[in-house]
Amino acid sequence: MNTKTTIVAAKLKKIREAYIKQLPAQLEAIRSAYSAFVVGDDAHASLEDLHRRIHTMKGACASFRLSMLSAEAAAGEHLAKDALCASSAPDRQWHQKMQEHFTRMEHEISTIDPLQGMDLQIHELAIAAEKTAERERKLVYLCEDDSFQRLTLATQIGCFGFEVFSFGEPEQLSNAVQNSPPDVIVMDMIFPDNPSGGAEIMKVIQSTRDNPIPTVFISSRDTLESRLSAVRAGSSAYFVKPINMTDLCSTLSLLTWAVKPEPYRIMIVDDDPQLAEYHALILQEAGMITLTVNDPLQVMSPLFEFKPDLILMDMYMPGCNGMELAKAIRQMGTYFSIPIVYLSSETDIDKQFEAMHIGGDEFLTKPIKPHYLISSVVVRAERMKIIRSQMVRDSMTGLFNHTATKEHLDTAIAHAQRKQEEVCFAMIDVDKFKNVNDTYGHPLGDRVLIALARLIRQRVRKADIVGRFGGEEFAVILPGCTISEAGVLLNELRESFAAVSFQAKDETFSCTFSCGIAPLSLYGDSAALNAGADEALYVAKNGGRNQVVAAKGR
Ligand code: GH3
Ligand code: MG
Ligand code: MG
Repeated sequence: MNTKTTIVAAKLKKIREAYIKQLPAQLEAIRSAYSAFVVGDDAHASLEDLHRRIHTMKGACASFRLSMLSAEAAAGEHLAKDALCASSAPDRQWHQKMQEHFTRMEHEISTIDPLQGMDLQIHELAIAAEKTAERERKLVYLCEDDSFQRLTLATQIGCFGFEVFSFGEPEQLSNAVQNSPPDVIVMDMIFPDNPSGGAEIMKVIQSTRDNPIPTVFISSRDTLESRLSAVRAGSSAYFVKPINMTDLCSTLSLLTWAVKPEPYRIMIVDDDPQLAEYHALILQEAGMITLTVNDPLQVMSPLFEFKPDLILMDMYMPGCNGMELAKAIRQMGTYFSIPIVYLSSETDIDKQFEAMHIGGDEFLTKPIKPHYLISSVVVRAERMKIIRSQMVRDSMTGLFNHTATKEHLDTAIAHAQRKQEEVCFAMIDVDKFKNVNDTYGHPLGDRVLIALARLIRQRVRKADIVGRFGGEEFAVILPGCTISEAGVLLNELRESFAAVSFQAKDETFSCTFSCGIAPLSLYGDSAALNAGADEALYVAKNGGRNQVVAAKGR
């Protein structure tokens, strides 16, 4: 077992242990439901309750590969269902059979081997996770015929945190790309038998792909002819030897950053906490972010705060069932198109059909193979992510738009207040930007904004939110960051941006920005925080621009 598998195994073991530990109580609850049915006034309701509880146990046990107990529960469920469908009250024989099931379930529970079926579960999970999880280190394929250069380059690129595989011959690269495509390719231009062999082979490789792989060419020739053949082969950059490694590697990280997908956000609604956690673990191992909700009546605020790309929904739950919940969620304007995937041990095709009709995208049955769960979720979440991205992103910079940024600010504030943490808000405005447009033209102005957006995005932490607030105005939300930390970060950003030189027709120029930052602790709510940062920005502008000013509070 590798380290990652060991960690997953440990997590899974914990979930399983917790599940097994609560089984006696679960059986106790089943028995109480049965007693309530025997003595109760509302026989149908308690029978439904009994059915739901046994059904839940059957599904969860199957998922945890506790096959004997699951089979016993399935038989009990069957019996309960017969009674539900019957027109008269069950006879003595029925009661006797049900009680026998309980006894056998009790026996199964007392003799469970906690490790039974776990190896199988871990194995499936590990395979599925490996196939789909996002690589932590970006994968670089390097193709260079000179063995000394190949080794040097591979070592240095490796030092910058990439995983590098190198190849001496283009055919080897081509095969490797087909088997397992990298995040980026570094390709030599000149090969012994062909001075533009690198470009030719890349052209062939890219033509077989739906999404071209970002490619950087390296060459000892600095001729337009060679550069053009690289461009025609779809190059993203061209470096002349001897290569400046820092430049090459920052280009590589830019290229791989651009293709890095945001993880899918999956909300899991299931009244069985351990089963929900197990499905969450599967999806997390595939690089997704999950939130589990065990009480279906509590979905509203997690739904608004977590903003899932997809909901994985159990069918039978206390309080309300999956179908009702799906319908209620879909009736809210914002969520009418959210994908809902049912994950249930319901095997009745009619019930499944009904559920889909009411508002589900797919019906998966428990137990489900991890890789199947992952791929079903990915396909549907991707669609939602695209729809959402068009609604919340600014098309020029790829940053969040004004509305989305404000929403994120509200969420960050709510979160910070709950956790009693700080959050800082920064407003950035490019200095004398009108001059840039007037002097160098609007398209070059656009390039400056795109560069600034990229610079901010690269420097902030993952949890920070960067938005384009308006024309040449940007906003950064920094959760868990003090005002002095925010000051340091924004000042570094300010200096970096001022150091970037932009190429106009026959001259280079640079730009600066001014920035106002405000901490939530001095303002208390979103509107005041916004106004505070805005005022600080105004002070920065008046103070001579190219500076960061911290708001002083109301
Ligand atoms: P200050 O330092 O006071 O902020 O001066 P400024 O010139 O940057 O401020 P002003 O608000 O007067 O001008 C902003 C300019 O930004 C005007 C507008 O044409 C330009 N602008 C807004 N959006 C875009 C855009 O998407 N692309 C380009 N190229 N220019 C834009
Ligand atoms: Mg400006
Ligand atoms: Mg402005």
